[in-house]
Amino acid sequence: MIRESAIRIPFRYAAGGAGSRFLAALRDERRILGARCDGCRRVFAPLRSFCSSCGASPLEEIALGPGGRVEAWTARADGTVFALVRLDGADTALLHRLVGLPGEPRRGMRVRARFAAERRASILDIAGFEPEEGASA
Ligand SMILES: [Zn+2]
Repeated sequence: MIRESAIRIPFRYAAGGAGSRFLAALRDERRILGARCDGCRRVFAPLRSFCSSCGASPLEEIALGPGGRVEAWTARADGTVFALVRLDGADTALLHRLVGLPGEPRRGMRVRARFAAERRASILDIAGFEPEEGASA
């Protein structure tokens, strides 16, 4: 017999220097920070301390978005929609949720970060990404 269940495993870990700077910028400046590699020119979202492509370090800190495009999405049974959003200026995508959708999202649609009213240095300081004004959904 097989008994199915789920185990909840809460955990905490140090965000590190780059991760802490990224979270503080969300909270204090409503900015989404990324990193540009001088070695291979890749731009990563979020901010990181070294290039995972060529190994260069340190990387240049740059602001990304707040607009971007949906690269892929999926919906949970409760209706929450998660997406990989490639912020303007970035070569990598950020996983977050989509909010304020008038209908089903589509790949390539323009979205923009909606910041939470109360921010506490968490990835949820971005409440979600919503369709850009004037963008067709
Ligand atoms: Zn590089």
